[in-house]
Amino acid sequence: MKYLWALTIAAGIGNAQAYRFGRVLDGEKVLTNAVIVVEKDRIKSVGGSAVGDVINMTRYTAVPGLIDVHTHMTYVLDMTKIAPSGRGAASVYLSQENARKTLETGVTTVRNLGASDYADIAMRDLINSGQMVGPRMFVSGYGLFITRGGRGGPGTADGPVEVMKVVRQQIAAGADVIKIYGSTGSGQDVSGDQTFTYEEMQAAVDAAHALNRRVAIHTYGPTGARDAVRAGADSVEHATDMTPETIAEMARKKIFYVPTIDHNRYYVDNAQLLKYPPGATDALNDYIARNLETAKKAVKAGVRFAMGSDVVYTMFGENTRELSWFVKAGMTPEQALKTATVDAADLLGKEDRLGRLKPGYFADIVAVEGNPLDDIDAVIKNVRWVMKAGTVVVDKRH
Ligand SMILES: [Zn+2]
Repeated sequence: MKYLWALTIAAGIGNAQAYRFGRVLDGEKVLTNAVIVVEKDRIKSVGGSAVGDVINMTRYTAVPGLIDVHTHMTYVLDMTKIAPSGRGAASVYLSQENARKTLETGVTTVRNLGASDYADIAMRDLINSGQMVGPRMFVSGYGLFITRGGRGGPGTADGPVEVMKVVRQQIAAGADVIKIYGSTGSGQDVSGDQTFTYEEMQAAVDAAHALNRRVAIHTYGPTGARDAVRAGADSVEHATDMTPETIAEMARKKIFYVPTIDHNRYYVDNAQLLKYPPGATDALNDYIARNLETAKKAVKAGVRFAMGSDVVYTMFGENTRELSWFVKAGMTPEQALKTATVDAADLLGKEDRLGRLKPGYFADIVAVEGNPLDDIDAVIKNVRWVMKAGTVVVDKRH
């Protein structure tokens, strides 16, 4: 954990700085005409009054820095063939643009689920040391796959013993979280055939939890979700067509659902760019409809959600569009906003540092025009200014 709280060097910020906002959503309540005092990388106070100079931000609503719990920051659409599928050192260089576009959406923290060659670990450490500008990253290293269809490189594991070993290898390499591919399904392929068995998932969860790491299990289909929930995964990703029994158990065990509905919308919109065959969009649209239905049932059942975009390629900059699907699934705008702030921080195990605008928390502050509690689009479309750990990283005020 030694990297996580390394400070981004904030040039020029030596003393406390005060900002007055028209409205502050601190994660629990609404404060009007409130001042946030920032000292170094942290929030010092949030309240009505301030001594000395105050920067006037009264046109804006302040919300906590947003958290995207499912990203692929190192995946670049490689026209040059320099870094195919996010591989290698070149992908770290090319992913700087992904990092910048992510910050522009107000996302100041990501959970990155799957990368090759530990490019994600390099990127995280470059950002934490101030050598690269980007969101704070919690990363998985290689996602775990079973041997299948010619796939057999790093991250491959078959049987509980190998699974435990590969989980430990990721953690030894510096992973903060473990990602398991518990079913098929990716890109134009919306099949959801279970891959890892229940016993293998259980081995992964046990090995990760013993080393104080959480586990995200990817499953497009319902049987992988059933076994992921039974095995005690911390979050289940995608998971369309879950049965009422699986949904009820998720709610009971407080397991997070990260449905990633919007990423298939991105694939539909960009089918030509991605060279998908004719007909691929029909399957994707059908999957989106079922994904939304499953999310509706999970909202009704009281399952906890976290916002994950599953962002890849040219989708960076659209990280938060998932929130509008959450409102369509039956959440209030306030509930939707929490999936990208307080609830996402809980999923990361950083609920005492991230996701709220409170004293002692990281000074991750997003200024938006409008009131997200009336219309979630204020957060999706109207981000004007972003501070990460006390440093202004985006400024589009006029
Ligand atoms: Zn993903």
